[in-house]
Amino acid sequence: MDTLETFYKISGLKMNFEKTKAIWIGSMAGSKVRFCPNLKLDWHDGNFEVLGICFNVDLKDLWVINTKKRLDNIYGILSKWKKRNLTLMGKITVVKTLILSTLVHIFSALPNPSKAFIDQLNRILFNFIWSGKRDKIKRDYLKRNYSQGGLKMTDIPKIISSLKKFHLAHIYTLGASLHKNWEIVNPFWKDTLIAWSDFMHSYDFEESWRQNIDKNLHSSSNLTISPWIYDLTRSIKGTKVFYNKLIGYSLPLPKSCLKWENQLGCSFPWKQIFSVYCHGLRDTKLRDFQFRFIHKVIFTKRELLRMKLIDNDECSMCHTHKENIFHVYIECHVVKNFWSDFCIYLTHILHRKILITDNELLFGTSDVLINHLIVAAKRFIFVQCIKNENVDFVAFKNTIRSIYDVEYHIARRKNDFFAFNRKWALFPQTAK
Ligand SMILES: [Zn+2]
Repeated sequence: MDTLETFYKISGLKMNFEKTKAIWIGSMAGSKVRFCPNLKLDWHDGNFEVLGICFNVDLKDLWVINTKKRLDNIYGILSKWKKRNLTLMGKITVVKTLILSTLVHIFSALPNPSKAFIDQLNRILFNFIWSGKRDKIKRDYLKRNYSQGGLKMTDIPKIISSLKKFHLAHIYTLGASLHKNWEIVNPFWKDTLIAWSDFMHSYDFEESWRQNIDKNLHSSSNLTISPWIYDLTRSIKGTKVFYNKLIGYSLPLPKSCLKWENQLGCSFPWKQIFSVYCHGLRDTKLRDFQFRFIHKVIFTKRELLRMKLIDNDECSMCHTHKENIFHVYIECHVVKNFWSDFCIYLTHILHRKILITDNELLFGTSDVLINHLIVAAKRFIFVQCIKNENVDFVAFKNTIRSIYDVEYHIARRKNDFFAFNRKWALFPQTAK
């Protein structure tokens, strides 16, 4: 108390005794001995909270006591948002901003949670993303970066690992006080070293660096974390670099891409295709549609028949062929006429010959306007098929008009017509 009093006199930071709670830890845990009765401190035996983290004296079940209330909150937030008709990207944004942001602090400050907790959390989050139905796209694919065919859904074990890297510099600073018999026993520091070891194995570091970490992790020899780790942890700011390294930049193609290649008998520039729908399409509903289309989770009668939801897979447009994704969007003569009218219309409007290949119809093109209209047309075909209505190009012209109106309205609200004019400049007023 004298020390705290001296500290107050020097720094001006005074202890508020009315709000101070005292608890015995270590060998005196549970003791009924009370010091400084004149200060009327509030003595406790149970859990106590420091900087938003709840502790107990034996440091057991920390995850249970810290997450019970948080999990109830998460259920509450998600049950409100699930009533809205959000896209996959919209739901992932909700997960990141409203759910995981509330857990980052405990991910960073506590030893790693059990596998059961991570599984439970993943179950809750993916249940929300797929609206209570089974996953339609592998979780590993959703967690990838855009350029690898993913939607940047957070990988929980990997974000925990990335957050732990901050503490490695402290191991170096604190040195020998952290370990007993030259071996790290505290689970928190052990997790920190494991996180670092994982990072080393996922990154092309020098072998000697990797060995240095592994030696610290597994051997009972002297703890010698070299100054380079300290420098490295200080030089890389934030967790993004570490997280992206753990997620990986060069991953095998998603299975749906291989299926497209097998079906069409050629290979495609997938990175470019992923980039076109992720960065070229601003309309999130269309982006969502194209993402599902590339991952082959746009259902046609073929899939519905397999699930025994209908009793035949006859094409709802031509009534002569069997429906599958290629037939509905490319092959069917009704849709061929639609695309022919589509090209004639654009040729007329844009005053240049517009020819669109099957591959461009399937996977998009780098022309922002034409790409937008192709995906909008595919979604139009999809909706008309569901409603059992004609795939009629005249009706689609109304969709083009509403796309134009929405983008014009957005540009006017932002008072920024630069991108709008660049995209729609060639579209004459009469056609809109
Ligand atoms: Zn057909």
